[in-house]
Amino acid sequence: MALKIWLDGKLVDHADAKVSVFDHGLLYGDGVFEGIRVYGGRVFELEAHLRRLYESAKVIRLEVPMGKNELVAAIKKTVEANGIVDGYIRLLVTRGVGTLGLNPFQCKNSSLIIIADNIQLYPEELYETGMKIISATTVRNHPLAIPPQVKSMNYLNNIIAKIEALDNNVPEAVMYNHEGYVAEATGDNVFIVRDGVIYTPPVEAGALEGITRNLVIRLARKENLEVVEKNLTRCDLYICDEFFLTGTAAEVIGIVEIDGRIIGDGKPGPITKRLRENFFEYAHAGRK
Ligand code: PMP
Repeated sequence: MALKIWLDGKLVDHADAKVSVFDHGLLYGDGVFEGIRVYGGRVFELEAHLRRLYESAKVIRLEVPMGKNELVAAIKKTVEANGIVDGYIRLLVTRGVGTLGLNPFQCKNSSLIIIADNIQLYPEELYETGMKIISATTVRNHPLAIPPQVKSMNYLNNIIAKIEALDNNVPEAVMYNHEGYVAEATGDNVFIVRDGVIYTPPVEAGALEGITRNLVIRLARKENLEVVEKNLTRCDLYICDEFFLTGTAAEVIGIVEIDGRIIGDGKPGPITKRLRENFFEYAHAGRK
């Protein structure tokens, strides 16, 4: 069955889901997006994703061309039309068609696209063995330049760091900010554990306020684990007991080596495993 894509108010066939070369999303990366999971036919953490989408749009003065209720209905319709039970939704709002100049206000109508498809996760065994990563030399965008809260369609900073990772035959890289503190990974948030306490960089360090990050913090606190948001150095990553990343696509994945330093005993640690299990339970709760 050909994929049906939501494009500006209606479902169209994959082959007809095309945007103009004058869309400022293409010309300038001018737009915002969300990546959302579907577990057991339910759209996961939808409220939180929509809140981030509307807030990101507000910061860049982009109008989401429909209200929240209408958008929720459009998302559900797209998921159902494609028979997605466990999958991934990519929701985009682009600035729309304009002129060749930067001026976003020349774009009369923003464009809303919803793609619901299956997702290529990391191979299952990587969750058992844990992942090796590197530190990127590419510095994270200054948080006062492009605010990290804005999930914009402009991912070049992360893509350059991702290329560094791939050049080193690993799937991910940690990005540091202009002060040398850990910001995040190219598509995931960073957590470490030391002496039983969980640490993650604050959003101000240049991290996207991940929906999975916030959920994992809540799940950890429910387990009476202490979670501290504080600036982390490269050295903190090298000497921690456990290390994991969180994100919509990756969920919770253990890191076992960074820059040639083995983390803990070289396997995903007990707190990482527990939080991964708790996450799985939460995501699949109520599944028929
Ligand atoms: N940081 C970046 C740069 C991301 O793109 C993402 C999402 N892929 C995350 C962190 C994780 O955020 P979330 O848990 O909301 O997917």
